[in-house]
Amino acid sequence: MSTADSAPSLRAVAALRRVEAKGSTRSLSGLLPFLRPYRGRIALALLFLVGAAVSTLVLPLALKSLIDQGLIAADPGERVMALREHFFALFLVGLALGLFSAARFYMVSWIGERVTADLRNAVYAHVLRQSPEFFETTQTGEVLSRLTTDTTLVQTVVGSSLSMGLRNTVMGLGALVMLIITNPYVMTQVLGILVLVVLPSLLFGRRVRRLSRASQDRVADSSAIAAEVLNAIPVVQGFVQETWEQSRFERSTEEAFQTARRRTRVRSALVAFIITATFGTFLWGLYQGTQAVLAGQVTAGHLGQTVVYVIILVSSVAVLSEVYGDLLRAAGATERLMELLAARSPVQEPSRPQALPAAVGGSAVAFEQLTFHYPSRPQHAALRDVSLHVRPGQTVALVGPSGAGKSTLFHLLLRFYDVRSGQVRIDGVPVRDVALADLRARVGIVPQDSTVFSTSAMENIRYGRPGASDADVIAAARAAFAHEFISALPDGYASFLGERGVRLSGGQRQRIAIARAMLKNPPLLLLDEATSALDAESERMVQAALEAAMKNRTTLVIAHRLATVQRADRIVVLDQGRIVDSGTHAELVARDGLYARLAAMQFDLHGSAP
Ligand code: ATP
Repeated sequence: MSTADSAPSLRAVAALRRVEAKGSTRSLSGLLPFLRPYRGRIALALLFLVGAAVSTLVLPLALKSLIDQGLIAADPGERVMALREHFFALFLVGLALGLFSAARFYMVSWIGERVTADLRNAVYAHVLRQSPEFFETTQTGEVLSRLTTDTTLVQTVVGSSLSMGLRNTVMGLGALVMLIITNPYVMTQVLGILVLVVLPSLLFGRRVRRLSRASQDRVADSSAIAAEVLNAIPVVQGFVQETWEQSRFERSTEEAFQTARRRTRVRSALVAFIITATFGTFLWGLYQGTQAVLAGQVTAGHLGQTVVYVIILVSSVAVLSEVYGDLLRAAGATERLMELLAARSPVQEPSRPQALPAAVGGSAVAFEQLTFHYPSRPQHAALRDVSLHVRPGQTVALVGPSGAGKSTLFHLLLRFYDVRSGQVRIDGVPVRDVALADLRARVGIVPQDSTVFSTSAMENIRYGRPGASDADVIAAARAAFAHEFISALPDGYASFLGERGVRLSGGQRQRIAIARAMLKNPPLLLLDEATSALDAESERMVQAALEAAMKNRTTLVIAHRLATVQRADRIVVLDQGRIVDSGTHAELVARDGLYARLAAMQFDLHGSAP
C-alpha cells in the first residue's frame, strides 16, 4: 500500500532526472513548440537579419573600390567626383544596414517578448492545475522564481542572443567565404587556427551550463525563503526572528553569489581564451597581407578589404562565444521550466468522464471502506477502513481530536488526492470517474482560514459564481449576514479588502467565505468551522450565516461548536483515522465515550449534558 501510494512521486522524480541528464544546449529545443506559432515572423526576422549581414559584408567591397578606384583618377576634379560617388555608395550601404538592423531588432525583440509571455502563461496554467501533492514538495517561491528569473533568461536568449548569434554566424560565414574567395592561401591557415579555438570552447561550455543551472537553483532557494517568510510576517516579528530570518536569507543569497561567481570565472576564462586566440589569428592574417602588399602581390585596397573581413570574422567569433555562454545559461533555465511543464499531476482527469445525475435537495455522499495514506507519509494511515453514507439534504457533523482525519475526508471528496483502497462516491458516481470541474462544481467549501483576495468585497464574493449579477452577490451577502458590515466599509461593496483580507476581522472574513459559498449554491457544502474564538456577537452572526448556508443541501461540517453539532442529523466521531462512534448528540453523550469527553472539553457542556 505504502509503495503504491508513493509511486507517482517516485515517477515524477525519475522523470526529472531524465530531463536533467539530457542537458546541454539541446535543452533549448524545449522552446520549439513555443516558437512554432510565430514561424512567419521568424522568417521575416531572418530575412532582415540576412539583409543586415549582407549590407555589412558589402561594406569592405565598397571600401576597396573607394581606395583602388576613387583615388586612382589623375585629374583632381575627376577624383573629387569619383570620391563623391563612392562615398554616396558607402552611405547607401550604411542606410541599408541601419534599416535592416532596426527591422531585425524590432522583430526579434517582439518574438522574444511574445515567447516569454506565452511560456510564462503556459507554466503558470500548468502549475495551477497540479494537485496539492505537487505543492507538498515544491515551494511557491521556487515556482515564482522559475516564472520570473528563468523566463527572463529565456527572453534574453530568444529576444537578443539568438539573433546576435544568427547575425554573427551569417556575417562570420560570409566574411569567411569572401576571404576564401579573395585570399585562398591565408584563409586555409586562419581556418586551421579557428578550429583550435572552437574545440576547447565547447569543453568549457559544458561546465558553464552545469554551473548556470546550479546558480538558478540557488536563486530559487532564496526566493522560496523570502516568499514563505513574507507570508508569515506577524509570526516572524512576534517571535523577534527578523535577524535570524535575515541571516538565513543572506546565507542563501551568498550561496547564489558564490555559484554565480564560479560560473562567471569559467565564462571569463572562456572569453579570454577566445579573444586572445582570435586576435592572434587576425594578426597572423594581417602579417601575411602586409607581406603580400610589400611583395606587390596584392593592392592596398585588397589588403584594406581583407583587414575588414578579418575584423568582421574575428568579432563574429568573439560575439558568438559570448552568445554561446548565454545559450548555455538559458539552456539551464529552459531545463528548469520544462521540468515544471513535465510535471504530471497525480490526479488526472478521467479518460471517459461520467455525467453526474441531477442532485435534487442536495448530493448523496458515500465513503466506502476507505483506507488512505498521504503520499508524503506512506507509513502513516490518515484514514483506516472508513465507511460513511450521507443522504441528500442531511447535515453530518464530523468531530474528533486534532489529526483524526476530518479534513482528509474533505480532501478526498474534492479529489485533491486519489484513494487506492476503497471508494468515494458523489451521487452514486465514483469521484475518479467524474470530470474534475463537474465534481468541484457540485461542492462548496468554507475553509477554516477563509481566503480573501486582494480585491473588492464584491469581487471576493463573486468568486463563488463568476457570472453572478451584483444583486445576486448582495443577496448572498445578506444571507450570510455580511451585508451590514460590508455596507459600513468606506466604499461599501467596492471597498478593497487588502492582501489576504488583512483589513477584516476573522469573523468578517468567514462571513465573506460563507457568502461566496452561498452564491455558488452547491448541492454539497463542506464546512470547516473556525476554531479561533470569536466574540459572542461575531459568533452569533457566523453561526446564523452557517445555518442559512446549510439549508436545502447536504452539509458535511467539521464541527467545533455546540450549536452546530446539536443541529446535525448525525454526528460522526473520528479518532486516529477511524470512525469510532456515530449518532445524535443526545445518544452520544449518553454513551459517555470519546464524544462525551470531547464535548465536555470542546463545547463546554457543563450542565447541558443530559
Ligand atoms: P484538525 O482538526 O487538527 O484539522 P483533522 O482531523 O482534520 O485535524 P487531518 O488534517 O485530516 O486531521 O489529518 C489526518 C492525519 O493526516 C494527521 O496525522 C496529519 O498529520 C496527516 N496529514 C494531513 N495532511 C497531510 C499531508 N498533506 N501530508 C501528510 N500527512 C498529512
